[in-house]
Amino acid sequence: MVYFKAMQIFIHYFLHFGIPLIFALIFYRKKWKKAYFILLLTMLIDLDHLMANPIFEANRCSINYHPLHTYYAGCIYLLLIFFKNPFRLIGIGLLWHLLTDLIDCMMTYSTCPSCLQNAPAIDLLAFIYQFFN
Ligand SMILES: [Zn+2]
Repeated sequence: MVYFKAMQIFIHYFLHFGIPLIFALIFYRKKWKKAYFILLLTMLIDLDHLMANPIFEANRCSINYHPLHTYYAGCIYLLLIFFKNPFRLIGIGLLWHLLTDLIDCMMTYSTCPSCLQNAPAIDLLAFIYQFFN
């Protein structure tokens, strides 16, 4: 269980920092540093966690809980990818952020569904879980 949690944390940070680096290197070869920087900047949407009370809570699923992590916010992020850069890159970064957080919620849900029984995204988590099982 401790091993799984450590693995979950590693995967979460790899998805947040590693994948955007690989993405920038592949798709923005000559400007990868700038692209990677913009992708990392999209991490700022986590500032909405500061509006929550308490700010930190173990096993909280950020999806649809924090204002910049709602389904509505996700729709706006999706629209951004139809614009020119840097908006497209910002949209990609924000959507990737939501997906990364969702994967984290799924890993929690897979070992402890009751931990997320009050999560605003519980229906989505249950749906995805049933889809893959
Ligand atoms: Zn987040």
